[in-house]
Amino acid sequence: MIFRDRSTEEWILLSISGLGAISILPFSVLRLIEEEWLLAALDSFAVVAMASIFLYVYLTGRAVLMAHLLSLICLLVLVVTVSLKGAAQTYWTYPAVLVVFFLLRPALALASVLLVIAALTTLLVGEMPPLIFAAFLLSVLATIGFTAIFAWRTRAHKEQLLRLATKDPLTGAGNRRAMEEKLLECLHSYQRTPLPMSLILLDLDNFKAVNDKFGHEEGDRILKAVTRCIQQRLRRIDQLYRFGGEEFVVITENTSLREAGLLAEALRQEVADASAELNAVTISLGVAQYHPGETGYEWLGRADRCMYQAKGQGRNSLCICNQPDQATERYKDLGSPTK
Ligand code: GH3
Ligand code: MG
Ligand code: MG
Repeated sequence: MIFRDRSTEEWILLSISGLGAISILPFSVLRLIEEEWLLAALDSFAVVAMASIFLYVYLTGRAVLMAHLLSLICLLVLVVTVSLKGAAQTYWTYPAVLVVFFLLRPALALASVLLVIAALTTLLVGEMPPLIFAAFLLSVLATIGFTAIFAWRTRAHKEQLLRLATKDPLTGAGNRRAMEEKLLECLHSYQRTPLPMSLILLDLDNFKAVNDKFGHEEGDRILKAVTRCIQQRLRRIDQLYRFGGEEFVVITENTSLREAGLLAEALRQEVADASAELNAVTISLGVAQYHPGETGYEWLGRADRCMYQAKGQGRNSLCICNQPDQATERYKDLGSPTK
């Protein structure tokens, strides 16, 4: 079970809390044997807290809150240990800095460790020979500097990779992979809490003719402009994806068929109103609410069938799907990645 598909954040938390609990445990026992009760209590607190965090993350997979809690515990135990045992314990500062940068956002990690270094400075400034204190301070600040730069670069790189993997490069809308993941997420959340959710499938009307008449570059510009136009009208909770060539999908969580229908009509109107900028391009839309038991692609298939009915009504139009139905032929071959 530990090897199930876990996020990097979970792996980092599990390793730090697991290794932390195991490595502090002997000190906690040693201090009990030596009857240093305060330090024994502190070390035991750290062991129990880390073991609990390990178990919680192992069982629930929830990492965000625990990452903050573990950072707080590490820094707190460091400061209290140094205040009780003095300069001899300062070497724990280095792993604590690394742990905090692994667990928190770089800016928050930097602020937290600088605050702790300020606290350690007030504790140690008269305790250590000045030269040794200066060496400690400089080496810790250098470690913080290197780690902060590394953390920032790693984060920027991760965000760039995420963008490349999930966004459509032309329009900036989510790509098909992101849409499939979102559909899966919606189906899972529906199993936990069955709130109404709907999707809108929309397709640009007679777009081939636009390309043929004005050229592919102008077609690309129109695709981008339509995306902007739609994004402007969507609510915060709505997600837009480019499903294929000139087809887009809007996933609206926590939204009934009626509300999604109103939103679809507002999108149609918005695009029609921008006709001067869009070379008179319009859109046709199909709307479907999720029915329990269907796969993501069956849901999408019903919206697609409606969208084609809207095309049949003369385009620049929308059609709402009221009935559960079979997937259209078009989606049968796609399998059911969202089952
Ligand atoms: P309908 O109203 O029935 O949807 O007609 P249509 O012409 O829009 O539909 P059709 O499926 O025949 O043509 C879709 C066109 O969309 C064909 C293709 O050249 C164009 N297209 C798809 N992706 C892109 C793209 O990334 N850029 C440009 N410029 N055109 C694209
Ligand atoms: Mg089209
Ligand atoms: Mg199409």
